[in-house]
Amino acid sequence: MIIYNLIKGHIDRTEFPVRNVQAGVKKRQFKTWFEGYAMENSKLKIATEQFVSLIEVLAPCMDDYLYIYDMQNDIYCISPGAKERFLIPGAQFNNVNETLSKLVYPADWPVLMEDLNQVQNNKKNFHNLEYRWLNREGKAVWINCRGQVIRDEEGNPEFLVGCINEIGRRQKADNISGLRSEVGLFQEIKDKDEGRLKGFVLRIGIDGFKEINENHGMDYGDMILQKTAQCIGAAILPGQKLFRVVSDQFLVADFTGRDLEEAKNLYIRIGRELNRFIQNNLYEVFYTISAGIMALEDLTDQSYADVMKLTEFSLNTAKEQGRNQYYIYNEEDYATFCSRRRMVHIMRKSVNSKFEGFEAYFQPIVDIRSKRLCGAETLLRFHNEETGYISPSEFIPLLEESALIIPVGVWALEQAVKACCEIRRSIPDFRISVNLSYIQVLKSDILAEILEVVNRYKLEPGSLMVELTESGFLEDNPKFGRFCEGLKKKGVLLALDDFGSGYSNFRYLSNLSPSTLKIDRTFTEKAMNNEYEYNLLRHMVDMTHNIDLKLCIEGVETEEELEKIRRIGPDYIQGYYFGKPCPLNSFMESHVVLPGLSIM
Ligand code: C2E
Ligand code: CA
Ligand code: CA
Repeated sequence: MIIYNLIKGHIDRTEFPVRNVQAGVKKRQFKTWFEGYAMENSKLKIATEQFVSLIEVLAPCMDDYLYIYDMQNDIYCISPGAKERFLIPGAQFNNVNETLSKLVYPADWPVLMEDLNQVQNNKKNFHNLEYRWLNREGKAVWINCRGQVIRDEEGNPEFLVGCINEIGRRQKADNISGLRSEVGLFQEIKDKDEGRLKGFVLRIGIDGFKEINENHGMDYGDMILQKTAQCIGAAILPGQKLFRVVSDQFLVADFTGRDLEEAKNLYIRIGRELNRFIQNNLYEVFYTISAGIMALEDLTDQSYADVMKLTEFSLNTAKEQGRNQYYIYNEEDYATFCSRRRMVHIMRKSVNSKFEGFEAYFQPIVDIRSKRLCGAETLLRFHNEETGYISPSEFIPLLEESALIIPVGVWALEQAVKACCEIRRSIPDFRISVNLSYIQVLKSDILAEILEVVNRYKLEPGSLMVELTESGFLEDNPKFGRFCEGLKKKGVLLALDDFGSGYSNFRYLSNLSPSTLKIDRTFTEKAMNNEYEYNLLRHMVDMTHNIDLKLCIEGVETEEELEKIRRIGPDYIQGYYFGKPCPLNSFMESHVVLPGLSIM
């Protein structure tokens, strides 16, 4: 009836109550504010009440929010969906200015005020502004608010009527791939939420899509997306639905109850289709796909958010495992992933609270000829109420993945230099070693940090030794080369750590020119139990000495081992036999207080 009246323009001037509106304005007269607007001959007349009802009728048909702002009575009415999304008290509210001041993203407030002032001062009749509102989580959401100003007989603005749409909202379909987007998937899952979902989802990602875009241009990238979508489309079976999710990712949903074998077969079929396309395209570009597979029955909470989150994890795992393969979701793996993420979160918090929980431990290094303590290696420890003590072999890789090793490494460096200065008061030629991660070398200006700390503590650069693990590929990296050269120029010593554990290559030694090689504990252990390995270690010591380098053997635990190692003539020894890593005060007590005393 209302819509009929609106269209016909025959609404009478009658008194109507406005729902949910503050006491003082419980009833208000119908206004004929649409006078002179739009319709040629018949003057369209509607009132706030009618408009509010109209909003309610139309709201389910649209994603946007219709609104009417009664400026003279200070009432704002908006589509009901807005109150679930934004920081507003309800779909109708008074004290509009005050409510808006809490709703509008603070930085955008002056812009909105300026525009509304122009409306008030008759400077404009159309409000059209892109700015941000805060959603219920307090996050900024871009909106475009458009509205027609309706003035009263005196020409004062009486109503602002229009529509608000979210300009950052995801598209429902994607014109590049010709597929429905993740919003479509959301609807599919929502429509099915009465019963439990059966079947699987396969989330597919193009390996190295960024490089395709970079090397061939965006248009070519779009073509690849389109072709990949077609290949997947050609491989799917009846009842399976295909969506394009974020950027270079697609998702096939099978709600028909097919099992994981079918998911794997589908992945293989898609691969074949793609290879055919690559061949027909004369190998102009070669690429592969990775996929995360998940059985819907494995989901406790079968919500859209969970499907997206867990398939993203599964796809990322497939990529991390080396791309061009699928990974099937596994709850235990996900739990490990979450606990690693939690650990990173805890360590990040610790970094931001003055490294609380991190500790520097020191392990003695002994000069085998003088039989005296000549240095120490700095080894990080981490402890937290929630996690307890965690081993460096567990947390160092997490620090590296999250790049937190950059600040933590600088912190450890400073602890090392500070400790060295203190120990040198008792042992003047004492040297401190500190481990560096290749992340620090490649992604930060660690050389400048080293020189700054050394200068600040007035430590002789030759008293600091940085330990780098040989990796077999980094040595050719120019940044790595420059770093090693820089160290040498400034007189800071370099040790090649874990030598003999992996890619040991004597060729790199001349490029990096370290002063010391450190033999890994695993090598020492083998040499203790195997004649061949023992002879190999002996030759390694000789070779190292032939090229004028020093050698430190790690992992010596017993007197018997010490004797055996001593016979092959290394320069330094580090191991539990002389001491486990410990905090500085224990180190001072156990190893430094009686300087000059032989410890062998
Ligand atoms: P790494 O650099 O090879 O350090 C030597 C490791 O061997 C230390 O393990 C030390 O406690 C252990 N060790 C020394 N002597 C013996 C022995 O006689 N027997 C046995 N069983 N173990 C011995 P830790 O402290 O657990 O550190 C493990 C690794 O974590 C280090 O291996 C190093 O790669 C890394 N790490 C520790 N602190 C740092 C740091 O500050 N920065 C970086 N980037 N890595 C660090
Ligand atoms: Ca080391
Ligand atoms: Ca080592």
